Amino acid sequence: MGYEPLDLFINGQWRKGSGGAGEAVLNPANAQTIGELPHANEADLDEAVVAAVQGFKTWSAMSPFERAAIIRKGMAIVRARADAIAETLTLEEGKPFGEAKGEVLVSADIIDWYADEGCRTYGRVIPARQAGVRHIVQREPVGPCVAFTPWNFPALTPARKIGGALGSGCSLILKPSEETPGTAIAFARALDEAGLPKGVLNIVFGVPSDVSSYLIPKTEIRKVSFTGSTAVGKHLAQMAAAGMKPVTMELGGHAPVIVFDDVDVAKVAKMSVAGKYRNAGQVCISPTRFFIHDKVYGEFVDAFTEMAAAMTVGDGMEKGVRMGPLANDRRLDAMDGFVKDAVANGADLRTGGERIGNQGYFYKPTVLADVPTSARIMNDEPFGPIAPISRFRDLDEVLAESNRLEYGLAAYAFTADTGRATALADGLESGMVGINSFNISMPETPFGGVKGSGYGREGGVEGLESYLTTKFVSQSPA
Ligand code: NAD
Repeated sequence: MGYEPLDLFINGQWRKGSGGAGEAVLNPANAQTIGELPHANEADLDEAVVAAVQGFKTWSAMSPFERAAIIRKGMAIVRARADAIAETLTLEEGKPFGEAKGEVLVSADIIDWYADEGCRTYGRVIPARQAGVRHIVQREPVGPCVAFTPWNFPALTPARKIGGALGSGCSLILKPSEETPGTAIAFARALDEAGLPKGVLNIVFGVPSDVSSYLIPKTEIRKVSFTGSTAVGKHLAQMAAAGMKPVTMELGGHAPVIVFDDVDVAKVAKMSVAGKYRNAGQVCISPTRFFIHDKVYGEFVDAFTEMAAAMTVGDGMEKGVRMGPLANDRRLDAMDGFVKDAVANGADLRTGGERIGNQGYFYKPTVLADVPTSARIMNDEPFGPIAPISRFRDLDEVLAESNRLEYGLAAYAFTADTGRATALADGLESGMVGINSFNISMPETPFGGVKGSGYGREGGVEGLESYLTTKFVSQSPA
């Protein structure tokens, strides 16, 4: 166990970059270097494109059943190595080992699910207007794809791209985050060992903007998938549009959590704390704007604050740790900025609000109460362990406030009233809605947002759909 050496994976070869450039990978729990990551230069990226084109030819010519057998074998290897891969993930990203292992296992499930669903990419036969004519609709993989994934879920976000692309018969050039490269590499090694033909999956690293601006315009690349911030997503979508390439954009969110006065407040507060501080809040569907009914507001804030303040924060490899460090030092500065601004706008800092120690990127689980909508944290995605809480009195008011922002990824509501639950499910402008639950992401369910949170879906049949094109064949007798 420990942190494995890092390589590029191009055309079935594990190797360093030909330009010699690279960067250090740090453990966010202590800011120590744990690995040296090679960068791909333009010649390496050109090779990856050629490999992906050849890989696509090989892979798309195989039956989905043959493809699924290789993918499933790869994921069996991942499961057998789940502890080692989870350690890699915790070392590079910081989340507690248990969370990391859960992520690795669900990522294997996601990739398997796509591989199986790829066997069900049915077309259809449309009745023709003349005898002897056949109208056939067939589904085909779109072609070589590129994907860019972030640091917060080093297994899950690559798994959604690898699963969708490979499950549908496409090849992929994946650029995982340079801050958390080892986990995606471990998945690629498992697929390589399972017999994945060369060029089907290629892994590259570099300066993100250089790699994306070089690869996206390539005529050979037929689809672009990105998970990350809304600002970067808009930029990449524009580049893809210039080449008329379909995109899947999983961008930021700022999920409202609406809690009515007819629920078990202690239970919902406990669920909310678990949801909020998972991965130290660095989750695009993290519950981020808590709107609590006036009648139970005090009870909720007190219960939430008590649990947040008691949370064990530390190195994710240590037993009993509930929350690890933030993934990088940028998040520490961002948290301080959000807290200072909220307090200046009149918010009540109930707990936390500061860094822990000066080694690693630890930040206290933070609760801000009575946060006005003028505070920046009620408008910009916090992406960290801060829970801003405010009160509401009626459904229309809280729906309007929930829908006010550009974001529309996830939303949550807690109520025992079925009519109200339906009104919330229908009224929330969001790609995903959890009613009395924070559980909105499964391999078989569509994941994605509306408005500034992006478009396209990953997971579910919709996820596979986005890697397929439709061909209509009209066949007449000669
Ligand atoms: P960032 O916007 O610079 O980077 C976000 C991700 O996009 C990183 O993985 C980065 O490598 C990648 N990226 C950046 N520019 C790119 C480009 N031109 N081409 C290709 N990839 C590019 O910000 P950051 O400091 O890493 O993260 C901060 C913000 O990003 C957070 O506040 C959050 O809003 C957002 N974020 C969202 C998700 C998500 O799951 N939706 C994940 C990570 C970060």
